[in-house]
Amino acid sequence: MNAPRGEKTFIYPVFLPMQGCAGKCIYCDQNKISGADADSLEASLAGAEEFLLRHRGLARQVAFYGGTFTALDQEYREALLRRLLAASDSFASFRVSTHPAYIDSQILTWCKQWRISTIELGVQDFSDEVLSASKRGYTGAQALEAANLVRQHGFELGVQLMPGLPGWTEASLDYNQRMLERLRPDLLRLYPLIVIKGTPLAKLWQQGAYQPLTLDQAISQCADYHSLATPLGIRVIKLGLPSNLDPADVLAGPWHAAFGELVKAELLYRDLCARYPEGAAIILPAREFNLLKSHGGRCLKKLEARHNNCMLEKEF
Ligand code: SF4
Repeated sequence: MNAPRGEKTFIYPVFLPMQGCAGKCIYCDQNKISGADADSLEASLAGAEEFLLRHRGLARQVAFYGGTFTALDQEYREALLRRLLAASDSFASFRVSTHPAYIDSQILTWCKQWRISTIELGVQDFSDEVLSASKRGYTGAQALEAANLVRQHGFELGVQLMPGLPGWTEASLDYNQRMLERLRPDLLRLYPLIVIKGTPLAKLWQQGAYQPLTLDQAISQCADYHSLATPLGIRVIKLGLPSNLDPADVLAGPWHAAFGELVKAELLYRDLCARYPEGAAIILPAREFNLLKSHGGRCLKKLEARHNNCMLEKEF
């Protein structure tokens, strides 16, 4: 039994860094992104068992991230899930992230049998030019087909997009937005591309062949996606790469430990601009003021420049 849609589900992540991946995508280093390595898997699985046992009766998922789950060797996949099923009850299920090229009816039937209820697809982009520049190995149409198949088989569908991939244009950005409107996944993750030390992308960047998004561009693009997604009922569950990434491994790009907060501040700024004419006095509740002011006050400065009297509401 899974949680009814909208009810809180507790999630325990288990990272399988790049396990099952056919190649290494030019920008990826899951060991650095997740902070996990082969030795930490046993500890993660033991932690997942403990999580499942401790929260009996509550809706909860063990989530396998960081690799291509559906491309793993079947015996290995089954051994992982069998071990955790032994600690599960009917309120527990699994979530996996995978590559769109490794989705078909056969694997989805297998996923159903093994109590996987959520499938997140690392689509990254729907535009053929962008996918080809990143050597992802599928077309936009194939990504859409995989997503539709996941949906048709009754899974909760998550889509991961990666603003700022090599070759992106305003037109490809617009195309991604139209695809999201059409597909309406349940969940959306937005990971603006950053340049991680030691990846092929780092070489391209060093040669001047790749220019990452600025932080402002990444915030703006993610805020645009967020504004589009929310009214469509698409839940944005992650903005920016995990903050456990060591900043020393980030060579360039829009990485910020509190990227999600920056996007939320931008959304609030846009909302205030829509509600108040330029120059009007605005009285802000403390929570909103603090959000605008946080992490360098980027949005508060913009708001102060637009309005002559930006005040903090008195709290009684
Ligand atoms: S498929 Fe995903 S996890 Fe695997 S190398 Fe590519 S981006 Fe990384």
